[in-house]
Amino acid sequence: MQIAIDGPAGAGKSSVAREVGRRLGLKCLDTGAMYRAVTWKALKEGIDITNGKLLGQLVRDCNMETEYNDKKGTLIYLDGENVTEKIRSPRVNKNVSIVARSPELRRELVFLQRKLAEKSDGIVMEGRDIGTNVLINADYKFYLCASLEERAKRRWLEMEAKGVDVVFEDLIKEIAMRDRIDQEREESPLAIASEAQIIDTTSYTLEEVVEKVLEIVCTAKIKEHREDRIEIFHKEGR
Ligand code: C5P
Repeated sequence: MQIAIDGPAGAGKSSVAREVGRRLGLKCLDTGAMYRAVTWKALKEGIDITNGKLLGQLVRDCNMETEYNDKKGTLIYLDGENVTEKIRSPRVNKNVSIVARSPELRRELVFLQRKLAEKSDGIVMEGRDIGTNVLINADYKFYLCASLEERAKRRWLEMEAKGVDVVFEDLIKEIAMRDRIDQEREESPLAIASEAQIIDTTSYTLEEVVEKVLEIVCTAKIKEHREDRIEIFHKEGR
């Protein structure tokens, strides 16, 4: 089973994907972590982040590995180094959408994402272009959204819990800028897949969103099962 979850920053994709994955016994992949890891490395090495060719080469030259952890979600390693925490810095936040515009880089990462999906028995993959590009034939597609203020509030609380000092108004500006770049880029922009179920998470708790997703998936599964049984009955002439 493949479940695609897309949406803007702070809409709750990672937490929902992790919890849905855990309850359905599926692996989970946060594709944003891959774009963040490239951004982190490019900034560290002083590479021009607007040069797509260099960014594509950077991915080909390094060994990027992801590991799924039930509690922590996607862990990410670059050449053996665990960079999971480092990629969440304010500097990476500010630059990641500029890096993610590059078609050369996207091609490399989408290739890795599809390979990971093929290798797994089932996956919940979340990002910006999963339902529209990476897993175009996913069994279920969701688009999570929430008001800008609510999304910024969630990020602010997350950062406060980690002891990172950020000004709320700056966070609003940064998320709005990221949304705009992600939606306006030419290569697989953030968009709602035509078959996607849209869930506005603004006034829902995590548990409520998880239940909505599971209800949609399970109802479809039961319907599928019923139709299969009816077909068998017909074939057997019962
Ligand atoms: O999900 P997260 O906020 O960590 O994603 C960071 C950035 O990575 C996004 O703002 C977007 O620019 C980029 N991204 C993307 N395509 C994806 C996942 C993330 O362009 N599938």
